[in-house]
Amino acid sequence: MKVGAPKETFAGENRVAMTPESALQIQKLGHTCLIQSGAGENAGFSDAAYKEAGVEVVKTAKALWDEADIVAKVRQPDASEMKRLRDGQTLISFFNPAANEKMMESAAKSGANVIAMEMVPRISRAQKMDALSSMANIAGYRAVIEAGNNFGRFFTGQVTAAGKVPPAKVLVIGAGVAGLAAIGTSTSLGAITYAFDVRPEVAEQIESMGAEFVFLEFEESSQDSAATGGYAAPSSPEFREKQLEKFREMAPDIDIVICTALIPNREAPELWTEDMVQAMKPGSVIVDLAAEKGGNCKLTVMDEKIVTDNGVTIIGYTDFPSRMATQASTLYGNNIRHMLTDLTPEKDGVLNHNMEDDVIRGATVTFDKEITYPPPPPKVA
Ligand code: NAD
Repeated sequence: MKVGAPKETFAGENRVAMTPESALQIQKLGHTCLIQSGAGENAGFSDAAYKEAGVEVVKTAKALWDEADIVAKVRQPDASEMKRLRDGQTLISFFNPAANEKMMESAAKSGANVIAMEMVPRISRAQKMDALSSMANIAGYRAVIEAGNNFGRFFTGQVTAAGKVPPAKVLVIGAGVAGLAAIGTSTSLGAITYAFDVRPEVAEQIESMGAEFVFLEFEESSQDSAATGGYAAPSSPEFREKQLEKFREMAPDIDIVICTALIPNREAPELWTEDMVQAMKPGSVIVDLAAEKGGNCKLTVMDEKIVTDNGVTIIGYTDFPSRMATQASTLYGNNIRHMLTDLTPEKDGVLNHNMEDDVIRGATVTFDKEITYPPPPPKVA
């Protein structure tokens, strides 16, 4: 079958869903590959590189959508792309089904089968297709680099002929995939790194990466008792108060805060308050990866960088993976090709959309003209 990747239409999106390298792997499954001319350009992949990898370069989005049996995308389709979906076609893309009921209805009506990459179940077997994790990893790394770029000092401490320099102090709030990547980046740059999460089970991981886990003195069976399926649940008011008290105490001493705390299907918890920002030293930096969900910091402005009156830079960008488009496209392209591997078990270029398979079923949001979201819970843990 023909697998095609169009140029992303979302303003400022630099990623592409297929790289020359992933195309080579997809061809080994018996498929042929198409790319829209220029689709990989902002990620560092030229039309010539695709051609060399045996990919057919087509001129327009229309030609790509008309020819491809399977369309691979990064961002959820826009209105014009939704109109291009047709009966029997398969779309593999981020789709945000929880917020896009109408889009699912229209995709089901068109007869296209949609695989939503954020719905890949988070089980071991599916890790290679877990695009949320591969993008969160990049976001965590890039958040620290972005912080460094806006911070006027070294991360590591130095003793030089010109003077002694103290190490920067970094606090990472939330130690999921992005938070752990931020911790790893921060410690490898030599900063003294602290990290906090409501899930106490991450303490060991945090410490094994060379950071210090911020413990709260709190009389509960765990940091916060309520954790659901590996994800966090909202904290009790008492726990939250303790947490804020701790952060308030740390604020004057911390140079960089990387916020990554999220709770599935909710607004981000507000954890870095205005008075904490006021208490920070001029030149300090906050990078708020929760900006899209309202931010962990009270003052974050989504998609903007602001500097407060007391000289604290607050970064609320939501496009960190796109800012590292080569890396992000390489990993996302691999996630897609692994999905295609599972969809092509015979490696014969024929798609087997097996709804009995937990991973494929879990990620499929429309199938055979029906909306199949939300999926039943996976059988395998
Ligand atoms: P996420 O992006 O939803 O949340 C980020 C982090 O914020 C979480 O660690 C959460 O505990 C933390 N958080 C929430 N409220 C907080 C608060 N008030 N204060 C401090 N921290 C707070 O999470 P994620 O990165 O997508 O992953 C979370 C879980 O999923 C982890 O258990 C992870 O191991 C698991 N996971 C499993 C797989 C897999 O098995 N394939 C893949 C990825 C992630």
